[in-house]
Amino acid sequence: MNTPPPVERRTVEEARRAILAAFEQLPAERVSLHEAFDRVLAYDMRAPHDVPPFRNSAMDGYAVRAADVQHATHDTPVLLPLAGTVAAGHPPPRPLAPGEAMRIMTGAPVPEGADAVVRFEETSDTWPPDTRPPGHVAILKPVRAGENIREAGEDVRQGTVVLPAGTRLTPAGLGVLASLGIAEVPCVRQPRVGILATGDELVQPGDPLTPGKIRNSNEYVNAALVRRAGGIPVPLGIARDTVEALTSKVHDALALGVDMLITSAGVSVGDYDFVKHVLAAEGEMHFWQVSIKPGKPLAFGLLRAPNGHAIPLLGLPGNPVAAYVAFEVFARPAIRKMAGLTPILRPTLKARLQEDVRNSGRRHYMRARVWRDPNSGELRVSTKGDSLRVQGSGILSALVWANAFAIIPETATQVPAGTWVEVELLDVPEHALSLIDPSVVTVEP
Ligand code: AMP
Ligand code: MG
Repeated sequence: MNTPPPVERRTVEEARRAILAAFEQLPAERVSLHEAFDRVLAYDMRAPHDVPPFRNSAMDGYAVRAADVQHATHDTPVLLPLAGTVAAGHPPPRPLAPGEAMRIMTGAPVPEGADAVVRFEETSDTWPPDTRPPGHVAILKPVRAGENIREAGEDVRQGTVVLPAGTRLTPAGLGVLASLGIAEVPCVRQPRVGILATGDELVQPGDPLTPGKIRNSNEYVNAALVRRAGGIPVPLGIARDTVEALTSKVHDALALGVDMLITSAGVSVGDYDFVKHVLAAEGEMHFWQVSIKPGKPLAFGLLRAPNGHAIPLLGLPGNPVAAYVAFEVFARPAIRKMAGLTPILRPTLKARLQEDVRNSGRRHYMRARVWRDPNSGELRVSTKGDSLRVQGSGILSALVWANAFAIIPETATQVPAGTWVEVELLDVPEHALSLIDPSVVTVEP
C-alpha cells in the first residue's frame, strides 16, 4: 500500500483554485430541441433567416391600401371590390390592385400592393345589416399604412446573435431556436459524475438495518446536487472499507467513462480510511486539511484512466453535513465549469445576523435561514432553529430546514448579532439572486 503524501493545510480559496484548475468546459454535442431544455449553448446562435420570414397579417380581416380607405367611417363606408382570399400557409392568389381588398387570415402573407389590414370588426363582415353589394366589402374605419402587418424580420433579423454561448436554454429560448429552424442545438456536453459512497457501516435505503449499520444517505444527496449543478450522476453504489473494494469501484468508474468521480468518507485519519491510499495508487493524489467547518479533510487528485485521460477525483468527508458543504463549496463549481455554466461560484448576498455567533479559525458554513424583515426590508439570517438542533455536524435534517449558508470568516472569533454577514442561498437560481438583492456581486474564482 502506498503511503499517502503529507497533509497540507489550505484555505478554501487555495483548495478551490487548485481544484478548478483541473477542469475545463466539456466539448459541444448536438442535441435535439426536445432534449435541449435547460442545456447550455456551446456557441453563439445566429439567425439563418428573418423571423417572421415574410410580411404577414397580424389579424383576420382585409388587406387594403391605407390610402384607399382614409376617409372611411361608419356612416360613409368605403366599398372595395374583393380580389380573393389568402389563408395562412398559402401564397396570395395575385397582387392587390389599387382600390381593391383581399380577405386575409392571421399569419397569411400580405399580397403585394397592400400596405395595411383592416380587421373584420371594422368592416361590413361584423356590422349588421350587411348592405354591401355582392363581391364587395364595406370598410368602416381608416387604417394607417403598416397597421396590423408584421414585417419580415421584426422579431429576429437574419444574421443577429439571438442567444449567446453559455445561455441555459429556457422554454422561450427553445421557441426562438425552433422559429429559426435550428432542429439540433450545439450544447455543452453534460458532465457525467461518478458517485461513490464508502464505508463498512453503510446499507442502502431499501435494505434492512442490521446492528452497527446506518443508511447510505450521501449517495442520494450527492446525486441530486450533481443534477442541480448541471451534471448527470452516475451512481456506483457502496465500496467497503478495503483497498481491494475501493480499487475495484474506482476501476468501475473509469470504465464507465465518468468526467469526475466524487467519493464520500474514508478520507480522515481513521484506521480504515483507505480512500487516499487507493487514490494515490491509481493516480496523483493530494490530501488536504482545508480550513473549513464542517468538513476539514478533503482529498483531491487525478486518476489515470485506461485511455490515458486524467479524471479528477474529489474525496468528500463522510459526515453528511460536511459532505454537503464540501460539495457546495468545491464540487459544484467544478461541475458548473465543465457544464459551461456561469457564474461558476454562487454569488453571495449580505444579511443581518440575528444572534451572536462564535468561530474558531476556520471558515464556518453555518446552516441558516434567510428571510426579509417586513419592517426594515433588510435580509436577516438566523443560525438557530426554534425547536431544532441546527449546527451539530451530524444533523442532516437541519439542512432541510436551512435555505442558506451563513459564511463566518476564518478571521472572526466573535460575531455579534446585527453584523452583516455573507450568505449563500441554496435553492435560488443564480439569475434570480439580483432580484432579491440588486447589489449582489458575482466573483469569479
Ligand atoms: P468517515 O469519514 O469514514 O470517518 O465517516 C464519517 C461519518 O460519516 C461516519 O459517522 C460515517 O458513518 C458517516 N457516513 C459515511 N458515509 C456515509 C454515507 N454514505 N451516508 C451517511 N453517512 C455516512
Ligand atoms: Mg469510514
